[in-house]
Amino acid sequence: MTDFEWTRAQFDLPDGMIYLNGNSLGPMPRASVPAMTSFLNDEWRSELIKGWNTKNWFMQTNTLGNRVGRLIGAEAGTTVVGDTLSIKVFQAVAAGMAMVPERKVILSDNGNFPTDLYMVEGLIKLKDAGYELRTPDPEDVLDHITEEVGVVMVTEVDYRTGRRHDMRAIIERAHAKGAVVVWDLAHSAGAVPVDVGGLDADFAVGCTYKYLNGGPGAPAFIYVAPRLLESAEPFLSGWYGHEAPFAFDTDYRPMPGKIERMRIGTPSIASFALLSVALDVWDKVDVTEVHAKSIELSELFIREVEARCPGLTLVSPRDPQRRGSHVSFAFEHGYAAMQALIADNVIGDFRAPNVMRFGITPLFVGEAEIIAAVDTLERILREERYTQDAFQKRALVT
Ligand SMILES: *Cc1c(COP(=O)(O)O)cnc(C)c1O
Repeated sequence: MTDFEWTRAQFDLPDGMIYLNGNSLGPMPRASVPAMTSFLNDEWRSELIKGWNTKNWFMQTNTLGNRVGRLIGAEAGTTVVGDTLSIKVFQAVAAGMAMVPERKVILSDNGNFPTDLYMVEGLIKLKDAGYELRTPDPEDVLDHITEEVGVVMVTEVDYRTGRRHDMRAIIERAHAKGAVVVWDLAHSAGAVPVDVGGLDADFAVGCTYKYLNGGPGAPAFIYVAPRLLESAEPFLSGWYGHEAPFAFDTDYRPMPGKIERMRIGTPSIASFALLSVALDVWDKVDVTEVHAKSIELSELFIREVEARCPGLTLVSPRDPQRRGSHVSFAFEHGYAAMQALIADNVIGDFRAPNVMRFGITPLFVGEAEIIAAVDTLERILREERYTQDAFQKRALVT
C-alpha cells in the first residue's frame, strides 16, 4: 500500500503554498539537497574523471532508465534516460519511419504538444522525401490509421485537457495496418498506469521533470520494444550509442540488440543525482494507487469548482478513466484569474487560449489542499480580482 503521508513528507514545498502544478514541474524532494551535495563532494570533486567507472556514471543512463521503465511497464534493458524529450521524439519517430520506408504519412493529432509536431516537421524537411504530417482531431486518430500511415505519433494524455488516448486500441489498429506507434508519455509517467510491454508498444518517450519530480530540465527517457532492439536505427548516432565507444572507431556501429543504441552523448550527471532521489520516492509507490487517489481528488475538485465557481467550464473529460492527472477549466479571464490565484499561493498554470490547468498529484496534494484551493478561487471570482491591472500582463512562461 502506498503511504501518502510518507510520500508527502518526502517533498520540501514552501510553507503555505498549494502546489497544483506537479504535472508541469514536480516539487523538490527533501533528499535533493544532500544528494546534490554528496554528488559534488563525493563524486565530482573527489573522483573527477575516475567517477565514470567508480560511480558508474557511464551506465546511469541504464540504471535510471530501468527504474523509470518500471513505472511504464517496461522490462529491464528497454529504457534509457538522457537528452531532452524533444530530441527523443525526433529519434523515435525517425527510427519508426525507417521501419516502414515506403509509407510517407506520419499521423498525429491537432491536440498534441507543439514540440512533438515541430520535431516531426523538421524531420520531414530533413528527409526531403515527400513525407506528410497529418493532424486530425484527437477523437479521429483511430479512423485515420490506414495503410498509408507509417508512423503514428501521439501523446497519451493531452497537455491541455487531460484527455487520454486509448493506447490499446491505437496500437492494435496500427499494428493490424502495418504502422509503427510512438507514444509520448510526458503526462502519463507517474500519473496513470501504463503498460508498454503488455500492450506491445513499439516506442515510448517522456520526461522526468513532470510527475516524476526529477527537477527542471531533468533527462528524458526512451523505451524501445525488445523485439526492435536489434533493428531500430538510432539516427542521432552519437558515440554513447556505439557498439564500442572506447574503441574510438571512425565509423558508427549501433550497439547491437541493446537499448544503449538510443544513447547519444555525454549526459548531465548532476541532473542524474537529482533524478535518482526522486525515483527513491517512486520505488515505494504503486502507480495504480496514485491514479486511484488522483481520481478521488480530481472528482472532488471538479464537484467543488462546478458548485462554487460560475463561469468556469470543465474542458477535461468527465469520465475519470478518460483523463490523466490534471483537470482543466476554460474561463474567459483564465490568464488573469490564474495570476490572481498564484498571487494567493495557489499554483496552477494557464494554456492558451483560455485554459486554467490544475495538476492533481497525490504524492503531495490531499483533500485539504483541494478544498483550500477552491476556497481561494471562489473568492477571486466573487471579488472579480482577475480584473486588476497587475494580473493582465503576460509573462514569458505561462
Ligand atoms: C512537456 C512536454 C514536452 C516537453 O519537451 P522538452 O523537450 O522536455 O521541452 C514535449 N511533449 C509533450 C507531450 C509534453 O507534455
